[in-house]
Amino acid sequence: MQKEMVKLTAKFKLKKTLEGLDYLFQAYREIVNFLITYAFENNVTSFYRLKKETYKSLRKEYPELPSHYLYTACQMATAIFKSFRKRKKKEKAKGKPVFKKEVIMLDDHLFKPNLEKGIIKLSTPSGRIQLEFYPAKYHEKFNDWKVGQAWLVRTPKGVFLNVVFSKEVEIKEPKAFVGVDLNENNVTLALPNGEFVQIITHEGETRTGYYLKRRKIQKKLKTGKRRKELLEKYGQRERNRLNDLYHKLANKIVELAEKYGGLALEDLTEIRDSIRYSAEMNGRLHRWSFRKLQSIIEYKAKLRGVRVVFVNPAYTSSLCPVCGGKLSPNGHRVLKCSNCGFEADRDVVGSWNIRLRALKMWGVSVPPESPPMSVGGGKPALTVNAIKGRSRRDGNNPPKFIGSAFGGTPRAFSFKPQRI
Ligand SMILES: [Zn+2]
Repeated sequence: MQKEMVKLTAKFKLKKTLEGLDYLFQAYREIVNFLITYAFENNVTSFYRLKKETYKSLRKEYPELPSHYLYTACQMATAIFKSFRKRKKKEKAKGKPVFKKEVIMLDDHLFKPNLEKGIIKLSTPSGRIQLEFYPAKYHEKFNDWKVGQAWLVRTPKGVFLNVVFSKEVEIKEPKAFVGVDLNENNVTLALPNGEFVQIITHEGETRTGYYLKRRKIQKKLKTGKRRKELLEKYGQRERNRLNDLYHKLANKIVELAEKYGGLALEDLTEIRDSIRYSAEMNGRLHRWSFRKLQSIIEYKAKLRGVRVVFVNPAYTSSLCPVCGGKLSPNGHRVLKCSNCGFEADRDVVGSWNIRLRALKMWGVSVPPESPPMSVGGGKPALTVNAIKGRSRRDGNNPPKFIGSAFGGTPRAFSFKPQRI
């Protein structure tokens, strides 16, 4: 058993905004700008020093404001000034930093959410006020979580409170690992019992659809508000749809991994340095998607006590999982080992190698993968029909293969593609 912390941000849209908030946003912006200017002129990058040298005068000027607003303003100003300095060194920023946003950082002294009642109490210069928010289904799970920092944000769409919640979870000792290979149009899982599960996502097609839609708008409307609105609308719709897909996918993946207690993903930070980056990433998920989907899988896994490990992704789809030899393409998405004759779909190879690497990382000595493979006279019986038969891609057909390398029941599911 090991304890870990899960942190998630929840968004609360406020129902109506009180007049007092106008003053608060304005005062806070003034304060942050004063602090940034002070930090800039005196080259202060330490939060403590900035607070120490400015607190008294700010206190005098804003006597009604709860003092924690001054603390968080110092934190924000320090962060803004530091990032400005960094950008300036790279010649990406000029002049002096200015804070124009309508954002107020809150610590847990300044607000208290009551999820059951749908209200948030906020400390203001005129005492504690109650803000009502629009409840969302997903808010409920945070009932027993710890409240951390928050940001009060005013946008043209309304005022939002983004709250960071955290929860301590217990991660069990994994019995085995499920290898998860994330691709542009499918997610392939290698289960410890030798089965492979493939979930067809059609994400690439969805993206292309939205891309074409946006291009059409850009061609039709050259400038103007309408163009901006439409582009924003479809951008938002695409993000919502992908987000929804990722949550469903992550739930399914974690569900499959739960009984083994372990799940392995590729380490993205390694990919960056890999020379084989472009070749290896061919047909892989878009970088943004990759990270987003991974982070959803990771926290959902932790919440169920499943251990997540990240393995080196280099050559996961070019080395033979059976003998370690080099694989070469052998027809559409099929790879073949010139050393031992093993042949399989590249996504199956990817997920299999990811699973094997997790075992190695975890210190389990990996026996050569030799379950009932020697059936076909020297060649592994693994040139599985199952794996071969899975390349149909149109969305109306039942999915999509799922192969089982060593027998066992093939399993299948897919998320139906939706038309735009
Ligand atoms: Zn081989």
